[in-house]
Amino acid sequence: MTVTADPSAYDLDALRARVLPHDDGSVDDSIPRLAEADPGLCAVALALQDGTVRGSARSDTLFAMQSSVKPFLFALALLDTDGDALHRVGIEPTGEAFDAIKLESGTGRPPNPMVNAGALLTASLVDGGDVEGRSDRILRGLSAFAGRPLEIDERTAGEEREHGERNHALAHLMRAEGTLHVTADDAVEVYGRACAVLLDVQALAVMGATLAFGGVNPLTGERVVPGSVARDVVSVMATCGVYDGSGTWMRRVGVPAKSSVSGALVLSAPRMLGAAIVSPPLDRQGTSVRGRIASEMLSDDLGLHVFATR
Ligand code: GLN
Repeated sequence: MTVTADPSAYDLDALRARVLPHDDGSVDDSIPRLAEADPGLCAVALALQDGTVRGSARSDTLFAMQSSVKPFLFALALLDTDGDALHRVGIEPTGEAFDAIKLESGTGRPPNPMVNAGALLTASLVDGGDVEGRSDRILRGLSAFAGRPLEIDERTAGEEREHGERNHALAHLMRAEGTLHVTADDAVEVYGRACAVLLDVQALAVMGATLAFGGVNPLTGERVVPGSVARDVVSVMATCGVYDGSGTWMRRVGVPAKSSVSGALVLSAPRMLGAAIVSPPLDRQGTSVRGRIASEMLSDDLGLHVFATR
């Protein structure tokens, strides 16, 4: 029988050392800022219920959230629309890439909040009136999840704006279907700014933990979202968080998670912990290669798989 390690004593530097030699995958080059990422970067952090946050070497290195922001945009949209966001976006996995130009057939809604179409919509459902107000409200909401004030990397935001052709295409398609209520420019700008939020793995682990502990930030004690919202978000992370790799992820890691093109991964193990990993080289589904391997090891070592019975 495997002995499950104690997360408060778990050696994160040893985990980092085990995954560092895995140097396959390629760094995303959809914007110049991402293409400059250090392929050797690897950092891991855990956030526990008592508010303890533990990080490996390099756990204070900053990166852009990119798609790891999507669960939190969904959470803020559910909060601000009093649950109506659930009727505006689907929750079924697509089996397709994150930026596939495709909406739910029959409804014209985005397929789920974890792909780009869905996140363009959920970001537009957050309160705030105009682009600036909505973007500020998102930044404040994300900061509450992280338990510290976060900032936007203006260079990343600018490059997302300049290179966001597919996101524009998705937003226009939703306009044509009548499922997006703001202009395409507005939707792309607000979503692009959310993707450009900078943080380190320790802050991202706290964000994952806030969802894992029913919407209460374990660091600050603040209730950021109701328990029902956290549960809905984590459910959709479990089924859709790793795009067309979600099934394999769930079988192998068994922890709801969200991947991103910056190589960031956020994990929410309900009632147990939040975790985050960053390492820029990605596999074909856009998941960090070292992040996936580290997640498998973490899950095995700490007994995190939600369907494991031992
Ligand atoms: N900003 C990226 C995009 O919209 C985010 C995608 C991702 O991280 N998978 O294309």
